[in-house]
Amino acid sequence: MHPQFERSFVTDIGSQPVQRAPRASRWPELSIVVPVHNEADNLALLVERLRTALTGEVASWEIVFVDDGSRDETLAVIRDLNAADPRISAVSFSRNFGKEIAIAAGLDHALGDAVIIMDADLQHPPETIPAFLAKWREGYLNVYGQRTDREGETRMKRGFAKLFYRIFGYFGETPLPEGAGDFRLLDRKAVDALRALPERARFSKGLYAWVGFRSAGVPFHVAEREHGQSKFKYRKLFSFAFDGLSSFSTVPLKIATWSGAIIAVIATLSAVYFMLRTLLFGTDLPGFPSLIVSIMFFSGIQLVSLGMIGEYVGRIFAEVKRRPLYLIGERVGFDARTVDHPR
Ligand code: UDP
Ligand code: MG
Repeated sequence: MHPQFERSFVTDIGSQPVQRAPRASRWPELSIVVPVHNEADNLALLVERLRTALTGEVASWEIVFVDDGSRDETLAVIRDLNAADPRISAVSFSRNFGKEIAIAAGLDHALGDAVIIMDADLQHPPETIPAFLAKWREGYLNVYGQRTDREGETRMKRGFAKLFYRIFGYFGETPLPEGAGDFRLLDRKAVDALRALPERARFSKGLYAWVGFRSAGVPFHVAEREHGQSKFKYRKLFSFAFDGLSSFSTVPLKIATWSGAIIAVIATLSAVYFMLRTLLFGTDLPGFPSLIVSIMFFSGIQLVSLGMIGEYVGRIFAEVKRRPLYLIGERVGFDARTVDHPR
């Protein structure tokens, strides 16, 4: 074990904010956190390009991979990378927990004064990192990459992304910078703030914006995926979008309440209207169609409202269970004997 990078943990389960030990001088200046899920083919090239991009830019660096339950050779590749260069380490989850959680675990294990989060598939070009560092040294604590285009994405996906940003901008309680994703640099202060947020439904885009700090965008060109294919299908993206909205807004609940109230008023008025009409003119047609229509309409509204409330209740349930955010199956390149970095 390279003495510069030995580290340690109190427990294998990480999610409670723990008091950090005082910063040790041997900790690296920059940590790169990379969530990986079946990315064996991309890692060697990624590390190579990172190494080139970082040369001369920082005093010291480390790469922390978070293996999010990969079923291919990813972990073996990481072991080899670690054997060749101890600045590369990894935590490996016991199963697939999702990218958001993998990022959280990466932040828990990164030791740097600044942390860069990036994808493993080389869509986030390592060559942008010097621009991030320049902003950081100017005093920005939350530097986000802003995609200049969405090349390699279908028009439909682009359209939904745009729609999401619009809805979120309108209803969300925290404004999101458009085109900002997970590719970003966070100062230690912002990292510790994020680590102290206990929520399980982690919509990190929103969380990064929520913690605030001096922020700046750095434009970058999204490259095509190097190997393999995107792991985000539409269903996953929609549930992700709803996660985002419901974690940062109570507007869906208000929509349910308001539409319920408005419909109730309309129903009362029409009841009065029908009553008067029957009293004055008698009844001409038995109102079967209108009856069916209104029953369906109201049950629909009720189900939607119940569903929305259910979503929030589900989230409350997930939070109160206080399960750990993730479980670690294996660590590569971490020394578990001395205790100076909790978790
Ligand atoms: N990823 C992950 N867990 C998952 C899915 C993806 O850690 O369950 C990682 C993946 O290995 C990659 C990053 O998240 O490093 C982005 O994934 P992907 O390229 O599939 O997403 P897209 O670029 O389409 O948004
Ligand atoms: Mg990708």
